[in-house]
Amino acid sequence: MTLDALLKQAAQRLQAVGSSSPRIDAEVLLCHVLGRDRTWLYTWGDKICPLWEHARFDALIAARVQGAPVAYLTGEREFWGLRLATSPDTLIPRPDTETLVELALGRATLPSGRLLDLGTGTGAIALAFASEQPLWQVLGVDLRLEAVALATRNAQALGIANAAFLQSDWFAALENYAEAGMHFDIIVSNPPYISADDPHLTEGDVRFEPRSALVADACGMADLLHLVNSAQRYLAASGWLLLEHGFKQAEMVREALNCAGYQNVESVRDLGGHERVTLG
Ligand code: GLN
Repeated sequence: MTLDALLKQAAQRLQAVGSSSPRIDAEVLLCHVLGRDRTWLYTWGDKICPLWEHARFDALIAARVQGAPVAYLTGEREFWGLRLATSPDTLIPRPDTETLVELALGRATLPSGRLLDLGTGTGAIALAFASEQPLWQVLGVDLRLEAVALATRNAQALGIANAAFLQSDWFAALENYAEAGMHFDIIVSNPPYISADDPHLTEGDVRFEPRSALVADACGMADLLHLVNSAQRYLAASGWLLLEHGFKQAEMVREALNCAGYQNVESVRDLGGHERVTLG
């Protein structure tokens, strides 16, 4: 079968199960199997697909039909133009989160400084920032050792030397930083913020992602509030805390920041027009 025909058939199978991006999913999976990019695929669509690759592609499409996220099937996802390894131990980096990176970069007014990324997962935010600000020291922490290992591998693969990762339950392992008087100029986080009863958790890719990266107590607010209330001890006097949250949580996060004494508190919309990040 030709590559074009194979793609068409796969896209139809994915469409039949309600995939929102059947053609792109099929193209990305076929590129992964062939070790080629999409430009190559568009040019050589009339080539016959070798049997081994055909069989591997069929297996991936079958997994995708069951709902498995493309980023877990290929083991990678692009974020901020960086190719990041992904795994079912971490959330899949989302384009929405690039808003957080842009805002953090906008607050990095000095040529060098320290940034902390809490709940770093693949390391996406930390690595995107570090790649743009090579003189800043970037630290990413995550509760899961698997995430720390993955983020470290991503930094090495991308040749990003100014980002380091360590295992910590939020600020727990950073006590010695605060005691040594070392403060962060910027603290960012995309913490879990979804309510356990949110129907969104039963749809699409999120079904396969770690719940610990998605769900928080108190209608999704528990971790956001914990970060607001504990970050000041680790922040420089004129430092910034930037938090991603659900689009209905902006007002609550602003209120928490104001109550805790943060200044210049504001929320910023993402590309989809939702209030996605609040800072102070
Ligand atoms: N924005 C993600 C979603 O709605 C959730 C990310 C998170 O909980 N931090 O799927």
